[in-house]
Formats: sequence, C-alpha cells, structure tokens
Amino acid sequence: MIRIEKVCKAYGNGEEKLEVLKDISLTVDAGEFITIIGPSGSGKSTLLHTVGGLEEISSGQIFLDNEPIHQLKDSQLAKIRLKKIGFIFQQFQLLSSATALENVMMPMLNFFGKKDTRKKAEKALTRVGLSHRMNHLPSKLSGGEQQRVAIARALVTNPKLILADEPTGNLDSTNGENIISLLERIHQEDGVTIVLITHDKEIAYRADRVIHFLDGKIVGEEVLKVR
Ligand code: ADP
Repeated sequence: MIRIEKVCKAYGNGEEKLEVLKDISLTVDAGEFITIIGPSGSGKSTLLHTVGGLEEISSGQIFLDNEPIHQLKDSQLAKIRLKKIGFIFQQFQLLSSATALENVMMPMLNFFGKKDTRKKAEKALTRVGLSHRMNHLPSKLSGGEQQRVAIARALVTNPKLILADEPTGNLDSTNGENIISLLERIHQEDGVTIVLITHDKEIAYRADRVIHFLDGKIVGEEVLKVR
C-alpha cells in the first residue's frame, strides 16, 4: 500500500538547514495497522504529511498503491487524498461555524449530490456513535465527540488508508481509549490500513507493528501481530 524509499527531507537552507527525515525506508502492507512512536520533534508528523502529499520531500521516493506521490502535481495529489486517504489530527481541525453533519459532508460536497452526501455523512456519524449530535456545533461537543466527528469525516469517503497524527493527544485517557477502540474496530471491519503516530507506549503496542522513530530516523521495528 505504502512504499517509502530512502526519503530525506530538510527545511530551510545553508546554516538554517534542518534535516528532519534522514534516509527513511518503510513499507506498509494493505490492511496493516502500524504505529510510529518517538519523541516530539523527531519528524513523525513530517513523515505522515509526505505520505499524504501534504509536504514535498528533498530526495527519495514515496509510492501509494504504486503511484509515485513524490512526482505528482497538487491537483493529482488532491484527487488521491480524496479517494484514498482519511486524515485525523490531534487538534480535530473541524470548522467551528459548521455543525457535525456539515463538517462530515465537507470533503464530498464538490463531488457528489447534496442528498447523497448528506446520507453518507449521516451514516458515518451514526457509525461513530454520534447520531444524536449531528446538528451540534463543535463548541457544543466534548473533545472525544469532536474527534469522533473528525473520524466520521475521515471515513465518509471510504478511504483505504487512515493517517492519524496523535489522535488522542488532546484527550483524557477514557476518551483516548474510546478513540483507539473505534479505530481498531474500523481497521477490523473495513480492513482499512492505519498509520498512527503517538508518543504513548500503551497505544503504540495496540498495533500490528510498531516503528520506533528518533531524530529523523527509524531506529527499531517490532512486529506484534502476524496477520
Ligand atoms: P514530530 O511529529 O515527531 O513531533 P515534526 O515532524 O512535527 O516532529 O517536526 C520535526 C522537526 O521539523 C521539528 O524540529 C520541527 O520544528 C521542524 N519542522 C516541522 N515543520 C516545519 C516547517 N514547516 N518549517 C520548518 N521546520 C519545521
């Protein structure tokens, strides 16, 4: 599903140059659930963004379903993101002036009819247990509920891949647990591939495989479940 080959990424130039990814190679199979664990600032988010085509790389190659992400134009990347990838962020990234339902409808509005979009969004919100909160604004929802809206928004396009950047980072342990259980269920039921960043060991070890990241490099890998 994902093939990352010898990827380097630096921000800035000359004296200011900061090498964030240093010769990263990693393959993720379709249907796998992997976690990437490492300290803050080690380059985990940057790696996730490069896979989603949100950040350019300095050298190396990234393939998603054999498509060369590193060579595609913005318009092509936008299409791939829409068709294949669901993003989940630590800060939820919901539009504050839109209801839960409108937030979930957002990614699809330009591509499907309104009625169809609404139906799909309602289904996604029901799946994450929020059928009773569809018309609430984010400010009227708890953090855990806001993250569930964000998960519904990520799921609504039926992505093959979910990229989750510290999805429980802003939640207490109970809500965090609910979010991880929900992602596990989605992984099992839909066979969706999940790449999840965390600095929480307990969460990291719920995956099929844990990748240890330090200072822009992969420094270890543990296979926990043989699929
Ligand atoms: P992590 O996700 O492991 O916390 P990040 O990928 O967010 O790490 O950041 C890795 C390093 O890259 C940090 O030192 C961060 O300050 C730097 N960095 C991230 N984004 C940018 C940017 N857009 N411009 C310059 N430096 C950046």
